[in-house]
Amino acid sequence: MSNNNNDLTLSAPLSGPVLALGNVPDKVFASGAMGDGLAIDPLNDCLHAPCDGEIIQVARTGHALTIRADNGAELLMHVGIDTVALNGQGFALRVEQGARVSRGQVLLQFDLDRVARHCKSLISLIILTNGEHFQLRPLGIDSVKVGEPFMQITARATASVRTAVDNSDAEASAQVRVTHRGGLHARPAALIRKAAQGFSSQSRLHFAGHSAACDSLMGVMGLGVGEGDEVRVTCRGKDCEAALQALVTALSQPIGDAPHAPAAAAPVRVTAEAGVLQGVCAAPGLVCGPLLRMAGVELAPDPGNHQADEQLQRLDAALEQVRGEIHTTLAQARQRKAVEEEEIFAAHLALLEDPALLDAANAAIEHGSAATHAWRDAIQAQCQVLLGLGKPLFAERANDLRDLQQRVLRALLGEAWQFELPAGAIVSAHELTPSDLLQLSAQHAVGLCMAEGGATSHVAILARGKGLPCVVALGAEVLDVPQGQRVVLDAANGRLELAPSEARHAEVHRIRDAQKRRRQQQQNQAHQPAQTRDGVSIEVAANVASSAEAQVAFENGADGVGLLRTEFLFVDRRTAPDEQEQRQAYQAVLDAMGEKSVIIRTIDVGGDKQLDYLPLPAEANPVLGLRGIRLAQVRPELLDQQLRALLQVTPLGRCRILLPMVSEVDELLHIRQRLDQLCMELELSVRPELGVMIEVPAAALLAEQLARHADFLSIGTNDLSQYTLAMDRDHAGLAARVDALHPALLRLIAQTCAGAAKHGRWVGVCGALASDPLATPVLVGLGVSELSVSPLQIAEIKDRVRHLEAAHCRQLSQGLLDLSSATAVRQACQRHWPLS
Ligand code: PEP
Ligand code: MG
Repeated sequence: MSNNNNDLTLSAPLSGPVLALGNVPDKVFASGAMGDGLAIDPLNDCLHAPCDGEIIQVARTGHALTIRADNGAELLMHVGIDTVALNGQGFALRVEQGARVSRGQVLLQFDLDRVARHCKSLISLIILTNGEHFQLRPLGIDSVKVGEPFMQITARATASVRTAVDNSDAEASAQVRVTHRGGLHARPAALIRKAAQGFSSQSRLHFAGHSAACDSLMGVMGLGVGEGDEVRVTCRGKDCEAALQALVTALSQPIGDAPHAPAAAAPVRVTAEAGVLQGVCAAPGLVCGPLLRMAGVELAPDPGNHQADEQLQRLDAALEQVRGEIHTTLAQARQRKAVEEEEIFAAHLALLEDPALLDAANAAIEHGSAATHAWRDAIQAQCQVLLGLGKPLFAERANDLRDLQQRVLRALLGEAWQFELPAGAIVSAHELTPSDLLQLSAQHAVGLCMAEGGATSHVAILARGKGLPCVVALGAEVLDVPQGQRVVLDAANGRLELAPSEARHAEVHRIRDAQKRRRQQQQNQAHQPAQTRDGVSIEVAANVASSAEAQVAFENGADGVGLLRTEFLFVDRRTAPDEQEQRQAYQAVLDAMGEKSVIIRTIDVGGDKQLDYLPLPAEANPVLGLRGIRLAQVRPELLDQQLRALLQVTPLGRCRILLPMVSEVDELLHIRQRLDQLCMELELSVRPELGVMIEVPAAALLAEQLARHADFLSIGTNDLSQYTLAMDRDHAGLAARVDALHPALLRLIAQTCAGAAKHGRWVGVCGALASDPLATPVLVGLGVSELSVSPLQIAEIKDRVRHLEAAHCRQLSQGLLDLSSATAVRQACQRHWPLS
């Protein structure tokens, strides 16, 4: 097709914020060496054709392609930065080289999560590669959606081509091995072009029977040279020697970018930086200290022929001991309300009783094995099964099994487990187990490094919960570091610095001190109201279960109680509290909160929260049964009694009532009516505000109808996640996936806010998502005006609010609704509103 040289408006090939090249986190792109262009930080996972044209080049690894528009402009579209390292994984090309495509046609699809996790950045480039003939005019747009006008290309009046002619016959050539990671993809090709353009000589690259001019980006990329391939460079002209030298350097010196740390999950290990091991962040933080390796129990070979009865008894006793220890851990976790810890160890207890394991161990003992070896082998066999499934989450559960293997072995060998640890140590291990982690945390370890493991493992969850910096998947090299060597663990970036200088140590101490000071500053401001930079007020209240917790919340600056879970008054006792006792308990919470308001939720039993003295009908699916407000259906007198107690607190205007598990408007209307009747009976002139929890998808979808009759809505993201994702919120194996930042939940939250706004009602969030600082800008952006958080996080969340621009949050949150997973949302949040 001949070029028509017409002006051309390109449509956006991706949706997302638009960036100038100078803001791209890559030196080569940012310098314009590849040509002028723009970048998009994509919120979708599909690259579309920006115009009609022909695909003239496709990267071997499928992460980039070039289209020649009908006017002759050539546009390179490059998804993400450093994506060549993925070697095609996560990219699915939908067109071939030479294909004719039309504007808007899908060119390539990519796995947004994977690219975000494994590469430096998702920021994608649209570069005009024949700028000597065309020029680009950006349209000054901040953010685009696929198909919207994006930039203009106009033909240059006179092509700015090099005119100097070098007629010299002098020639120089050399063989070079290409060292660029991923071969001669776009960025190395740009460097080669830049090198060639600095000389009057004509230079060419020869590979596999083809050759290309070095100053042609397309030509160089089109040769398909891979990393480690040998190419020949020839230069002809009067400065051929100098040109050759420059090109040999450009071909053989890898681009010197700082290696990148993936944000989570499986690693792309980069070893280019000397003295640094690169892994995956499981829990962020920056620490320094001596690195100490922790080894597991290793067994000598088993001579066999043991007395089966004796060995069975030994195994039983060891199992009993470990069960006892786990029960103690569970009880402590329960007391501290450390839900994640409780879930993890409850799962361990179940594993310890698993008949497949016990039968295998017992059978080996019957055949003469020692209890130790029988137990070790039974666990190993189960681990093999889990690992063989090829699914990371199952593979990570194998670590829980290894934990039990080690605990039982230690019990069998009679070793009281003692790993001597100086305070302030960083601990390395092949793979740490949850119980190791608890021990190490109690011994004041300051950081954890693992050769293996994943960011969603239980250890990772526990490490995050304890604020213990942790990096996984560092590779076996971490186990070879000499004992006691002083290191720096930069967990947020997945880096273990093996030989930090004194200056680096001092820097780490400075940063840590600054963080402590920052926490102190946040605490100092905790009692001030929180407003975004552009003046939007966000109430930061607290979730509590008793007046003692309300006291803590008040002291920590809570603007009120956003959720009092009254069922805690009802559990762990033989009889129900009477009206008087309830009234006193509610009054105590009001009294603890000074002048501030208190939202009291009516009893939410049923499901996982059963009461001994309140026999409810047996149900096949209690979580889908008579829980929350549905209790009014079977035990109306209980709810009546609670409402009566609530109506007697003073001042009643400070008390708001919240109804759990509402799924239709009639449930609300029924309680409203009942409250009115009770108010009349008690001769009350003040009516407390009545709100509805949005914790089942039906309620979110009906938010508008509910808001017509409710005074406020409060989103319970814990149950909303469970019911939206169809994942048991208490399921240890799904713990990492029950993530309320899932785009499906964000859509429900957005719909709730929109429904409430139609009737001028406010929306709060009282589920755990409100306590997650990464989520604060999203919730503010979607229209939430109250966050009810755990009492100790009030200062942090208020501080987070004060650093946000609500208008900006509103703009960017909308884009998150279109993402494909919670992981993608988390990554986008990190990019838009990084947590320092
Ligand atoms: C929720 O579901 O998010 C919530 C706050 O209620 P609970 O955790 O008590 O079920
Ligand atoms: Mg709930």
